[in-house]
Amino acid sequence: MKNSLNKLRLATIWLDGCSGCHMSILDMDEKLVEIAEYVDVVYSPYVDVKEFPKDVDLTIVEGAVSTDHDLEMIKKIRANSKLILALGDCAITGNISAMKNLYGSNAVLQRGYFDLADINKEKNYPSKIVPKLLSKVLPLHEAIKVDYFLPGCPTPSIAIYEFLKALIEGREIHVHSLTRFGK
Ligand code: SF4
Repeated sequence: MKNSLNKLRLATIWLDGCSGCHMSILDMDEKLVEIAEYVDVVYSPYVDVKEFPKDVDLTIVEGAVSTDHDLEMIKKIRANSKLILALGDCAITGNISAMKNLYGSNAVLQRGYFDLADINKEKNYPSKIVPKLLSKVLPLHEAIKVDYFLPGCPTPSIAIYEFLKALIEGREIHVHSLTRFGK
């Protein structure tokens, strides 16, 4: 990998996903050490940062947009990131996260909080801590502009590595050559 004086300011986040795509990032194993030399991880579920930072070069987003908090967060991320990568099928199509679109948020809440509940006889939805579900789960590109897409469930770690390597080296990224690693 070519050397670079400016480290890539990298953020990662999961919205409505299972975290499997982030596990794929960890599955790069020793290649993580290689990548780490060229990036500063400024925000991630792996590090304890509360506020999304400014001037991020690349944000990797796993998961779909399912709640009002997800929507607020992804807009803030877009405003503060030069590039956004939608990582995995949930971010790209909604995938498993969007299965609740088949029934609608109200039916999912009814089933989860009341029909199957042994308590909560008052039939109150939680409203103080839990973010409100949107009426429809959105893939990322329906909420914001997305620069790159890497499919898979999860996205294979080799595709994530090749993507990051190409970005660090300043090479043009050929999406088709990367998506061949998809499922
Ligand atoms: S694409 Fe698959 S592995 Fe990735 S967050 Fe969604 S369900 Fe999990």
